[in-house]
Amino acid sequence: MSNVNQDGWSKVKERLRVEVGDDVYSSWFARMDLEAIEDGTVRLSVPTRFLKSWIQSHYAERVLACWQAQEANVGRIELIVRSAVLKTTVQPKPKAELMAGAGDIGNRFNGNGHGRPMAVSDPGVHEALGGSPLDARLTFESFVVGRSNTLAQAAARQVANGLRGDPVMFNPLYIHAGVGLGKTHLLQAITWAGNAAGERKVLYLTAEKFMYGFVSALRTQTALAFKEALRGIGVLVIDDLQFLQGKSTQAEFCHTLNALIDAGRQVVIASDRPPNELESLDDRVRSRLAGGLVVEMSGLGEELRLEILKVRVQAARSHHPSFDVPLPVLSYIAKTVTHNGRDLEGALNRLLAHSKLTGHAVTLEMAEREVRDLIRPQEPKRVKIEDIQRVVARQYNVSRSDLLSSRRTANVVRPRQVAMYLAKTLTLRSLPEIGRRFGGRDHTTVLHAVRKIEGLVGNDMALAEEIEILKRQLQE
Ligand code: ADP
Ligand code: MG
Repeated sequence: MSNVNQDGWSKVKERLRVEVGDDVYSSWFARMDLEAIEDGTVRLSVPTRFLKSWIQSHYAERVLACWQAQEANVGRIELIVRSAVLKTTVQPKPKAELMAGAGDIGNRFNGNGHGRPMAVSDPGVHEALGGSPLDARLTFESFVVGRSNTLAQAAARQVANGLRGDPVMFNPLYIHAGVGLGKTHLLQAITWAGNAAGERKVLYLTAEKFMYGFVSALRTQTALAFKEALRGIGVLVIDDLQFLQGKSTQAEFCHTLNALIDAGRQVVIASDRPPNELESLDDRVRSRLAGGLVVEMSGLGEELRLEILKVRVQAARSHHPSFDVPLPVLSYIAKTVTHNGRDLEGALNRLLAHSKLTGHAVTLEMAEREVRDLIRPQEPKRVKIEDIQRVVARQYNVSRSDLLSSRRTANVVRPRQVAMYLAKTLTLRSLPEIGRRFGGRDHTTVLHAVRKIEGLVGNDMALAEEIEILKRQLQE
């Protein structure tokens, strides 16, 4: 390779980095090498098939354009997979190796990048595609429906009952709720019921498993096999999407999501926040996620908690027939233990353990002692600035980053002022500190916002009421 070529290549890489940004560049192009330039064709190599396919389908024209900006006579880019064999064996047949690396997709950028399925069997990938482990107890039968989850449960049922070839009613189905409110339960119920019906394969993956499967696929160069297998499933269920991290993972997630939805496959997602608050995802993914049915499950009400406890005791009795919890004890737990379903389970487990170990019947006194630390604190909640921003953003249908941004359009300015006002009145933070937390603003800006809202609530009943509601939500 002549130095002239390598110099040119460095400049092309620089241009590419500027155009796509550091993150994208290091995810996809950092390991791309120049192999040769012949007759207007630039041959570039990458270490994995996956990278090759990804770059071909997403960045082919960019790469070509960057080359053409540098060397006008470049007409074509050819991308090959560097085979490790090429470097280590003494006497390889370079041409043949190159062809093998590039062969299954075609030597040219073809704008789609999907090769035919590969017969690679990799336990990591297959395990990842086998889905995350399911808990046999988390079914529709054991899921108690109440005011806070009626819609989510109905939508989940609908998805689980869907038949192959049915039109998909809402896609994706996106369920969000705080911790312990039944997301995983509902998602696994869909998986059990859907697979029992046998019509469509339902695959349940935690976001971590998705990342793990993807990352290991990248390493073993079987990302295409991974994708092919993903395409074989009817319903993809992804739990805890908020844990999806890393630029390239997210890009792959976006790709998978689009591919599945466009092919009419159902996607179900659970997360601890609504799509517009998944700050690390880019706008297109967020809007795609928001484009289906977004359902929130709110805190478990007292009635629902009591029902859940009853179902749990019933289930426990099948293994421990002597276990009995009198209704007043159940009511006490339902009333005092936090909204979180996991704590309810924890409370019952302690009663069960205690009665097994001591042989004593469960009484109210014993329950009070055993679950003391699970009891909801009564003192008023400390309000955090993040919570204020989250709640205000949701109320006014803007994103949290809008609130922190320097945008000055009316639909952002007012919510921002409200949020600053609430931060001043509900927390002990100083004006400069609040300014810092709102995208590095000056304390005078915060003061202005506070005065502005104070002035407005005196005359504007609707705004005053809105602010009351926000305060109540935050202090609940
Ligand atoms: P999340 O995934 O939202 O954090 P989980 O689905 O793990 O919450 O639920 C926590 C616990 O509460 C589980 O034991 C679950 O079975 C129980 N639970 C939550 N909601 C319900 C419900 N509606 N009916 C029955 N059990 C529930
Ligand atoms: Mg969960």
